[in-house]
Amino acid sequence: MTTPRVALVTGSTSGIGLGIARALAEAGYRIVLNGVGSAESIDDARTDVQSRSPYPVEFLGTDMSQPSAIEQALQGLTAEIGPVTVLVNNAGAQHVSPITEFPVEAWDRLIALNLSAAFHTTRLLLPGMVTEQFGRIINIASAHGLVASKDKSAYVAAKHGLVGLTKTVALETAQLPITCNAICPGWTDTPLISAQIRARADALGVSVAEGGRQLLMEKQPSLEFVTPEQLGALVCFLCTDAASQLTGTAIPVDGGWTAQ
Ligand code: NAD
Repeated sequence: MTTPRVALVTGSTSGIGLGIARALAEAGYRIVLNGVGSAESIDDARTDVQSRSPYPVEFLGTDMSQPSAIEQALQGLTAEIGPVTVLVNNAGAQHVSPITEFPVEAWDRLIALNLSAAFHTTRLLLPGMVTEQFGRIINIASAHGLVASKDKSAYVAAKHGLVGLTKTVALETAQLPITCNAICPGWTDTPLISAQIRARADALGVSVAEGGRQLLMEKQPSLEFVTPEQLGALVCFLCTDAASQLTGTAIPVDGGWTAQ
């Protein structure tokens, strides 16, 4: 068995991250999962991804909003299984509130998790990619990395920042066999937005299905949710040699949201 490339997907115990981890496992990468959910959800994700991979699946329970915890975890990980050459910065959270009522704690938490975590993982793992002469850094931003919506100040600021970070890292690695890109999904059917769908359904006094339809009608012209499988396939493409000149981009996968 040849030595596989190691792929770390942050926030991969559910939703988009799990979809990406599944796809990378099937494409032959050795997977490192990360997340902070219940023991049961972590176990389910691990069993699921392990069933798609011949290599042992690792798990980091690191809170990605904590810089010192990230540093400690990544040092331990690379000492144990070698350099991570595919890094998918996906862990993220949302808070919806007008800016005058936006809790300061929520602002700090969202910036730390949705933006600063990618700075820390990149600065810590890039040297190993340089040594290996291969690297793919993929930041899961959002349509909200390209355009704004009201009441999402921290999320929109963090995701725009993540797109900026992506461009900077792409320039700093442009002459190396390393690329850095952002993927900007529109509404994707995951636990992160099911809460928003339920809230909308309750507010309108309609079914959850109708709440989802209303959410799509507002922003996403295709009127279909993006799937984690579609995003996993795109990540796998970005890891191929065919994508070696694709760097510094922010790729919308949003059913036309940001074309409007
Ligand atoms: P999700 O809630 O289903 O999953 C979030 C994952 O992040 C889970 O594995 C969770 O354990 C992990 N996580 C949460 N807090 C963490 C922390 N402090 N440290 C480490 N891990 C943590 O969400 P999702 O919808 O799959 O979102 C994944 C990413 O995609 C996020 O960055 C989100 O902003 C982005 N995104 C989602 C959508 C959407 O419509 N769902 C659209 C655009 C972008």
